[in-house]
Amino acid sequence: MLKREKRLERKIAKERIRILIEKAEKMKLEDYELAKRYVELAKKISMKYRVRIPKELRVKFCKKCLYPYKFGKFRVRVRKSRVIITCLNCGFERRIPIRPKL
Ligand SMILES: [Zn+2]
Repeated sequence: MLKREKRLERKIAKERIRILIEKAEKMKLEDYELAKRYVELAKKISMKYRVRIPKELRVKFCKKCLYPYKFGKFRVRVRKSRVIITCLNCGFERRIPIRPKL
């Protein structure tokens, strides 16, 4: 019973994270600060309930300063089968390996 509740709790947490990141995506051009707040909240929820932010959502914002990536605020380069995304708010670089599709 308890185990089931915990699973449900985490499922709800995951849903909330998704909604918050989607909101941040919609808001980032209008109100960048608010968009960042949404990401911060999503991060807090993920830590509290120990759920991972899904991969496809994690690439939408800077891991360090939590501002969503938006035009003019990040730079993308490809080097040695890696995508390097540089956040222009804080300078943080992240490397994402490109997996060859077979
Ligand atoms: Zn950053």
